[in-house]
Amino acid sequence: MHVVVIGSGMIGSSIAYECAKAGAKVTVFDAGNIGGKASATSFSWTNATSKNPRSYFALNVAGMRAHIELRRDFGGSPWLWQTGSLEWRTTQEGQEWQRGNFQQMSDWGYGVEWLDPRKLAEMEPDLDIGEIGAYPIAYYPEEGWVDPMIYSAWLLREAGRRHDATIRSHTPITRVETKGSRVEAVHTAGGERIKADYVINCTGSQADADLGVEKVPLAPTVGILAFTPPVATTLRSQLHADDLNVRPDGAGRLMIQKASIEKRFDEAKSLEADGPEAQELLDVTRKIMPVLEGVRIEAVRTTYRPMPKDGFPCVGAMPDLANYYVAVTHSGVTLAPYLGKALADEIVVDRRHKALDPFAPDRFFAEPSSHGASAELLGQQPVEG
Ligand SMILES: Cc1cc2nc3c(=O)[nH]c(=O)nc-3n(C[C@H](O)[C@H](O)[C@H](O)COP(=O)(O)OP(=O)(O)OC[C@H]3O[C@@H](n4cnc5c(N)ncnc54)[C@H](O)[C@@H]3O)c2cc1C
Repeated sequence: MHVVVIGSGMIGSSIAYECAKAGAKVTVFDAGNIGGKASATSFSWTNATSKNPRSYFALNVAGMRAHIELRRDFGGSPWLWQTGSLEWRTTQEGQEWQRGNFQQMSDWGYGVEWLDPRKLAEMEPDLDIGEIGAYPIAYYPEEGWVDPMIYSAWLLREAGRRHDATIRSHTPITRVETKGSRVEAVHTAGGERIKADYVINCTGSQADADLGVEKVPLAPTVGILAFTPPVATTLRSQLHADDLNVRPDGAGRLMIQKASIEKRFDEAKSLEADGPEAQELLDVTRKIMPVLEGVRIEAVRTTYRPMPKDGFPCVGAMPDLANYYVAVTHSGVTLAPYLGKALADEIVVDRRHKALDPFAPDRFFAEPSSHGASAELLGQQPVEG
C-alpha cells in the first residue's frame, strides 16, 4: 500500500510516521522546507480547556494523551514541555466565564485547580503578584507546549530511518489524478506522476488550493507572534491572561500573542519588530513580568491558522473519493499525534476511530439535517489558540 502525504507540518508528519510504522509505504511531499507553515509559527499550547462541544473536548484530550504515548516510541519527547498553564481574567465577565469553565472542566475530569497567590509567587517569582494576585488563578498542570519543528524533524526522520518512508521537500504537488471514484496518482510541479493507493492532504491553510479535486472550505485567521531575545527569567508555566498568551520559547526567549491585536488584520502581512503591535505586546507583558524592563521585541512572525469554515477539524475521507483524505485543523499541535494514529489505523489497519465521526469532511457537502454525526457541532464556537 502506497500512502502519499501532501504537507510536512505537524499533521502531515504525524500521519506519515504512523502510516509508515503501521506498515505502509509512505512518501511525503512538501512544497517548501520540512516542518510546515502554521506549525512553524504556532503558539503550540497543548490543551483541551474550554473546548466545546464534548466531542471536540474529547478529541483534544486524546491529542494530549497521544503526545505522552509517543514518548514510548522515542524514549522521551525532546519537543514537549509539559509545564502547566496559569489562567486569570481581569474583568467580572471574564471571571464568571472562568468559574463556569473551571466547573465544566472539573466535571469532565480535566486537570485544573485554583492557585493561592502565595503558591503562585513561589512557583513563578518573575510574575508581579501585586499586579495579578487579586484575580482568581486557575492552574492546569497537564497542559504544555510543543516545539513543532523539532517534533516534525524527529517523526519524519524516524519514519524514514525505521520505516523506509521517503521525504521530499521543495516538491509541490499540483494535481491529484482521479479515475471514477478513486485517486490514482499525484503530479508534482516538476512533471512527475507518482502512483498512490491513498492520498492525504495535510496542506493546512492551503487545503483550499485547486488540485483538481473537491476542496475543504476554509476560513483562515491571522496569527501574530512576537518574540523577545533571551531574558534572564525562570518562567516555566504558560500565562493566559484575558486574551494575552505568553510562554517560554527556549533559551530564555518569550513568545507573546494577543487575540485582539490579531483581529485587526485580515491579511498575514509582515510586521516590524519595533512597530506599534510589537510594542503593545511587550507593554502588556511587561506589566505582569517586570523582568522585561529594558527588553525589546526581537522578531514578529505572522501566518494563517488552518481553519475549516466552521472552525472545527476536518479529518477523513472526502465524499465520493474513498481513497482521498484530508486532515485540516486548528489546534493541530494538540491533535497531531492522535490524528496520525487514528488515520493510520483507518487507512492501514482498517480500524475506524469513532471519535473522528463528528469531524468528517462530508458535513461540508451534505445537508446538516441529513448528517447526524456532526449535528453536535452546529452553532458551536470553538476556542482559538
Ligand atoms: C499563531 C498561531 C497560534 C496557534 N496556536 C495553537 C495552539 O496554541 N495550540 C494548537 O494546538 N494549535 C495552535 N495553532 C494551530 C496549529 O499550529 C495548526 O493547527 C498546525 O500547525 C497545523 O499543522 P499542519 O501540518 O496542518 O499545517 P502546516 O504546518 O501549515 O503545514 C502544511 C504544509 O503543507 C505544505 N503544502 C501546502 N501546499 C502544498 C502542496 N500543494 N504540495 C506540497 N506541500 C504543500 C506547506 O508547505 C506546509 O509545509 C496555532 C496556529 C497559529 C498560526
